[in-house]
Amino acid sequence: MERLIQGAKRLGVELTPRQLEQFHSYYREIVSWNKQINLTAIVNYEKVQIKHFLDSLTVTLAIDKAAIKNEANLSVIDVGTGAGLPGIPLRILFPQIKLALLDSTSKKTAFLCHVTKQLGLDGVEIITGRAEEVAHQPQYREQFQLVLSRALAQLPTLAELTLPFCQIGGTVIAQKKGELSRELTNAANAINTLGGKLRELKKIDLEEFKDERYLVIIDKTHPTPQEYPRRPGVPARRPIQ
Ligand code: SAH
Repeated sequence: MERLIQGAKRLGVELTPRQLEQFHSYYREIVSWNKQINLTAIVNYEKVQIKHFLDSLTVTLAIDKAAIKNEANLSVIDVGTGAGLPGIPLRILFPQIKLALLDSTSKKTAFLCHVTKQLGLDGVEIITGRAEEVAHQPQYREQFQLVLSRALAQLPTLAELTLPFCQIGGTVIAQKKGELSRELTNAANAINTLGGKLRELKKIDLEEFKDERYLVIIDKTHPTPQEYPRRPGVPARRPIQ
């Protein structure tokens, strides 16, 4: 886990032996399950450390680490988590957070049940379902202080799939790759309609990443109108203009 250790240091994060052990087990489980179900195209040991684990930990650049440690049970949901990214790396780093992992593919959530148990990550809630439906359930709607997503969708769609989960006063952090200015312009109305306000577009500046990576940080300032998110598939087919 040398690459992860070095990269994490550059993020100001010191990983304990126990955490490194958990990352190592997580790596082994991903590679093993990847033979049966399609979790990731990246299985190389060095690359997983950088492109999955370190990349997930860049979320810490947008959150107040001291606040997470002091505030017990910060509620976090990772929407479209796939193999558990970025949620699981964040939960390994901050055992105090109360984490929910959501994905629509039951094979992936079966992996998440297995791997969280294997890693000894207690109390992680795993939800199988579409964000469009789950976000209308009262126990999830506007219940989370922090909503994460990585590689989920284009911004207007992503806003509709994430902001409804976020408490007023909470934050959405979306990890995105590539040139974003046009996507952001297109998303301005969607973010506003859904009760959000763009706080910052934060560029990730780490030597490990040659491509452009950003954190899109959106504050939830108003309630999301009841009609959102729309029915499954609609946010992607007809993004809010
Ligand atoms: N966040 C992971 C996976 C990204 S791929 C990573 O960065 O590696 C997008 C994931 O979102 C897939 O696992 C897919 O099953 C899930 N997904 C796509 N649309 C969804 C929706 N509407 N509701 C819930 N999950 C969704």
